[in-house]
Amino acid sequence: MLLEMKNIAVNYGKINAIRNISVAVPEGKIVTIIGGNGAGKTTTLRAMSGMLPVAAGEITFEGKRIDHLPAHKVVANGIAHVPEGRRVFPDMTVEENLRTGAFLRKDKEAVEADLADVFRRFPRLRERRTQMAKTMSGGEQQMLAIGRALMSKPRLLLMDEPSMGLAPVIVEEIARIIEEINANGLSVVLVEQNAELALELADYAYVLETGNAAMEGPADELHGNEHVRAAYLGL
Ligand code: ATP
Repeated sequence: MLLEMKNIAVNYGKINAIRNISVAVPEGKIVTIIGGNGAGKTTTLRAMSGMLPVAAGEITFEGKRIDHLPAHKVVANGIAHVPEGRRVFPDMTVEENLRTGAFLRKDKEAVEADLADVFRRFPRLRERRTQMAKTMSGGEQQMLAIGRALMSKPRLLLMDEPSMGLAPVIVEEIARIIEEINANGLSVVLVEQNAELALELADYAYVLETGNAAMEGPADELHGNEHVRAAYLGL
């Protein structure tokens, strides 16, 4: 396993948000975490990237414990997080935003090569490289947030609701980008409220309900599951 999260609990003060959550991410795969509002998806992802302290359990990445590491060390180890709502820096240009993704890297030449790669993958970012991020559309900001994450040269990409607030045609574009990135060897953890999209993209899926692990299985199996169809696919 590339990443293994075992029996994780996270509390917000006295409130226990998730408990006993275990997630395994095999090398090269897309794993999704689905569930309704407030189920604990974002909390689980933020625990993986060291943005939230865990109250119980352990997380290993490439066999090494990371659950005690601060977020910047987790990034340095190869895990990049594309946050919910993109969170690009609004008053910085597209290129400046992308460069922030590489701020921990010392391999300056490789950074330039990766910037060229991101511009090749996202021609619209190249066209708008000197434009302020706040002037970009929602879809373009999502591409920018993904590009910024790629600039840290991750082995695992954590994505929190990349489809949120985007028109269906743009969601399709983002979906193709996720597939392409994964086909190039990057492993992905995808958190989504859009279960249809998530189960289409993922190899394996976890369902969270009110902070608990409710179900897991191969994505196509869960797609055919009665409970999942009724509760999350509106079928
Ligand atoms: P959504 O899709 O709505 O973001 P989610 O599945 O990502 O939902 P979380 O955001 O992880 O869910 O929230 C899990 C639980 O933790 C919810 O009950 C939520 O109200 C609570 N929670 C989240 N953030 C905080 C916080 N900063 N302080 C207190 N409680 C929080």
